Amino acid sequence: MSQYRPMTEEELRERVRRLKAEYPPDKVDMYTFRGAQYDHGLAWVHFPEGYGGLGINPKLQAIVADELRRDVHTVYDDLAVNPIGIGMGAPTLMTYGSDELKRALLRKCFTGEEIWCQLFSEPGAGSDVAGLATRAVRDGDDWIVNGQKVWTTLAHVAKWGLLVARTNPDVPKHEGLSYFLLDMQSPGVEVRPLYQITGEAEFNEVFLNDVRIPHRYMLGKEGQGWQVAITTLMNERTALGGGSTQKGGGPIQVLMQIWAARPPKRHKPAEAAVLRDRITRLYIESELLRLTALRAREMMRAGNPGPEGSVGKLAQAELYKKIWECTMDVLGEEALVYEPGYALRRPSQEERRDKVLLAKYQFLRSRANSIEGGTSEIMRNILGERVLGLPGEPRTDKGIPWKDIPRGG
Ligand SMILES: Cc1cc2nc3c(=O)[nH]c(=O)nc-3n(C[C@H](O)[C@H](O)[C@H](O)COP(=O)(O)OP(=O)(O)OC[C@H]3O[C@@H](n4cnc5c(N)ncnc54)[C@H](O)[C@@H]3O)c2cc1C
Repeated sequence: MSQYRPMTEEELRERVRRLKAEYPPDKVDMYTFRGAQYDHGLAWVHFPEGYGGLGINPKLQAIVADELRRDVHTVYDDLAVNPIGIGMGAPTLMTYGSDELKRALLRKCFTGEEIWCQLFSEPGAGSDVAGLATRAVRDGDDWIVNGQKVWTTLAHVAKWGLLVARTNPDVPKHEGLSYFLLDMQSPGVEVRPLYQITGEAEFNEVFLNDVRIPHRYMLGKEGQGWQVAITTLMNERTALGGGSTQKGGGPIQVLMQIWAARPPKRHKPAEAAVLRDRITRLYIESELLRLTALRAREMMRAGNPGPEGSVGKLAQAELYKKIWECTMDVLGEEALVYEPGYALRRPSQEERRDKVLLAKYQFLRSRANSIEGGTSEIMRNILGERVLGLPGEPRTDKGIPWKDIPRGG
């Protein structure tokens, strides 16, 4: 029997229409609208009532998105409002957090009033994140944390951080970790920007010096941090590999628009034929990605995705890089010119309407797609081992206490 309560598509659409009638999205501000969306149970529909959901099948979230878009100008993209909070933090909190934390944090996470970041990677632990060295030591009702994180997206604007730290160095690496919610405004948290090839600094280094975290902010139990982190990572990969929900939407749409807008004689006939062929193939791959992502969503159990999310993450990262490369080839020498005034930052919603500017930015930004959220090589390992059941790679540190594993520096 399904764990979700039944609801028809029409009943759900009616709920969204009621929300929009009470709080017209074009007339109220973002926090008000999204707060009401949460209160109506339309934030994460599979979450329980009272926590931004209705306890219904997560597949139905697509119906909410569809109905929200209808007949309005103002449409919010959850992954732009609070990507880490909404896409990864909330499902982790829902699975492992206390009622007190859920009530205190979920609503502001969804509205975007409180931005979240993810403090996993360290200078010596990225792909091998379970080997991380940041230490948390118990002191009465608190934990005292010392260490350094890196590549922390949005840490400079975040209120909450998803932090994994080592609470026991005497056991093998996966067993000695614990997972905390860190108030980023706590004394001892220092955030320094890191600049990317796009010119912007969307991520940071974060230094943690004697930072105190109350024990009640631990998610899961002491030593259970790896299991909790996997929930976050699986949700991250599904969010990063979600593709476009619309047929022909997303990056492939931009490429086709740019191609269609070029003067027909711009390319020599042979060159044009080759480009047309590439674009057609990329369109087919985009559609395959969209359908694969739909299938991955169908396979979500208990609201949390499994390793299948890595299929979409891998496919999307590699495909998006190819699409933006092809867009640069279509633009030709125009792609080489970053005109005066090119803003060294992510284009605003307004600027995104200029497809050429957007494409130039995305070409640079997409280089990170096969690194962030786990590299393509690591996705292939997960696919091989956890989806296809192939033999695992040799693990020389298996069963060895973390403190005895040799490491550089
Ligand atoms: C734009 C961006 C945003 C990010 N945001 C965040 C964030 O918010 N929070 C956060 O915690 N982290 C974040 N990261 C970090 C990201 O998760 C890591 O960069 C990533 O996991 C790779 O780790 P690494 O950089 O240490 O590379 P390494 O792990 O050192 O890998 C180096 C190379 O070796 C390969 N490699 C490593 N191990 C294996 C293996 N076993 N088999 C085959 N190949 C292997 C890798 O694929 C890679 O090519 C972000 C990264 C980027 C680019």
